[in-house]
Amino acid sequence: MSAVPPLEPALRLAVALLHSYWVLQDPVDQLSVARLRAAGRELGLTELTEPLGDADLPRLRELRTRLYQVFAAPDPAARVATLNEVLTEVSAGTAVEASPDGTLRLTPLPRPGPIGPFAATVTGALARAATTGGTDRFGVCAADPCRAPYLDRTRAGRQRYCCELCNNRAAAAAYRSRTRRA
Ligand SMILES: [Zn+2]
Repeated sequence: MSAVPPLEPALRLAVALLHSYWVLQDPVDQLSVARLRAAGRELGLTELTEPLGDADLPRLRELRTRLYQVFAAPDPAARVATLNEVLTEVSAGTAVEASPDGTLRLTPLPRPGPIGPFAATVTGALARAATTGGTDRFGVCAADPCRAPYLDRTRAGRQRYCCELCNNRAAAAAYRSRTRRA
């Protein structure tokens, strides 16, 4: 099985953006500048989140939708193609950059504007996760109606649900349908 992608801060920020929308929470869309800034402070990425303002929310939602499409694409080739489209949209070229542990990695250069560095960084983190672990590790939760995106970081790489809660809901639903048929 492929390597488990490290949970670098930029990847966690991407997950925070993606998980701001969830059909099982009320309201379903909890994206706000305050929420992203809190995540930025927690992850040491305030240079990306502090410049964001309420006027950027429509573009942040659009970015969230585009990144979700990477997870929801039907097969690995479509995931790579979608990821490449988003990388092109958010970046003005690519640079080789030293990561904190000293290894070199490809990083998309941001487009101008307040969401530019944020968009390039979170998309770059997903691209690095894809090159490390393969796009088989990108998926959406199989428990209806959840469909939340997840990045499978298990060793075996056979995750189907976004979280323990959905895993248990799906198991209970399968049990109910078995006992109804019996
Ligand atoms: Zn789920």
